[in-house]
Formats: sequence, C-alpha cells, structure tokens
Amino acid sequence: MDAVRRVLNQYLKLSSVLFVCFLLHKMVRYKGADRPRHTYDFVVVGGGTTGAVIAARLSEVPSVSVLLIEAGGEPSVLSDVPMLSTLQFNGASDWQYKTSPDGASCLGMVGGRCSWHRGKVIGGTSVINAMIYNRGA
Ligand SMILES: Cc1cc2nc3c(=O)[nH]c(=O)nc-3n(C[C@H](O)[C@H](O)[C@H](O)COP(=O)(O)OP(=O)(O)OC[C@H]3O[C@@H](n4cnc5c(N)ncnc54)[C@H](O)[C@@H]3O)c2cc1C
Repeated sequence: MDAVRRVLNQYLKLSSVLFVCFLLHKMVRYKGADRPRHTYDFVVVGGGTTGAVIAARLSEVPSVSVLLIEAGGEPSVLSDVPMLSTLQFNGASDWQYKTSPDGASCLGMVGGRCSWHRGKVIGGTSVINAMIYNRGA
C-alpha cells in the first residue's frame, strides 16, 4: 500500500511540474511569430508528428518561407501529462473516425465498429498517443 502511495505521490509531483512547464510554455509561445504573408516557398498541410518536423526543418533555412496549416486547434493541457492524454479520445483533438463493419472484426463493439483515434490538433496523433515513444521524421 505504501509503495502504491509513493508511486502516486511521484506521479502527482511530476504532473504538477509538467503543468507549470506547460503554463510557462504557453506564455512565451507566440512571441516573434510572423504575420501571415500572401505567398510562401513551402506550404506543409498537416501540423502533425511528421508535418511539424518537416516545417521546422525547412524553417531552419533563413532564406525560405514556410506555412504550416493544421485543421485542428491547440492541444489540451491533458496532452502534457503521460497517460492522461487518452482522456482526449473522441474529444475535440480526435478526428473520431470509426472503422467500417466487416463482419469479422470489432464484433464486440456497437455496430461492429471500432474507434480509430487520430489527432486533429497541432502535434497530430502524437498529442493523443499517451507520450509513447515516437521517432521524428
Ligand atoms: C493510442 C495511440 C498510441 C500510439 N502509440 C505509438 C507508439 O507507441 N509508437 C509509435 O511510433 N507510434 C504510436 N502511435 C502512432 C503515432 O502516434 C502516429 O503514427 C503518428 O503520430 C502519425 O504521424 P503522422 O504525421 O503520420 O500523422 P498525424 O500526427 O496524425 O498528423 C496528421 C495531421 O494532419 C492534420 N490534417 C489532416 N487533414 C488535414 C487537412 N485537410 N488540412 C489540415 N490539416 C490536416 C491532422 O489534423 C493531423 O494533425 C500511436 C497512436 C495512437 C492513436
């Protein structure tokens, strides 16, 4: 019991630290952001795991202008806490796709359809995947 309490304590401490980091990050995030232009050298559609990396790498070239377009909004604070991000399933940061019934899979689900979670948010699916290891593109 003591061990469980200790682990929970550590988890709460870590969550609090992450939450404070998130607030600080929010406060400085948009400083220095460019105003929108009429033309860009590169337009990257989808600010997910891959798109964000591609746009960031392209923007390292000072002579090049880059526009990153994302269908979703800002990530919820839940995404900064490991495992809590799963609470975002079927929420605003999820495209809320369902599989089509095929008579062979998802038979225990309503209508034979499984949820197929994909991130609709800046950061894409990596925002709702519980901070599980992701290799950059
Ligand atoms: C629960 C869960 C656990 C996972 N665990 C792991 C794991 O352990 N290890 C691992 O490697 N991977 C894991 N994954 C998979 C991993 O998260 C995804 O493969 C990866 O994030 C996909 O990256 P992506 O860039 O291809 O797509 P995404 O990150 O989904 O990015 C696509 C982006 O494009 C945007 N978009 C789509 N259409 C448009 C449009 N028309 N206009 C503008 N924007 C648009 C979307 O909103 C989204 O932000 C997991 C996924 C889930 C759901």
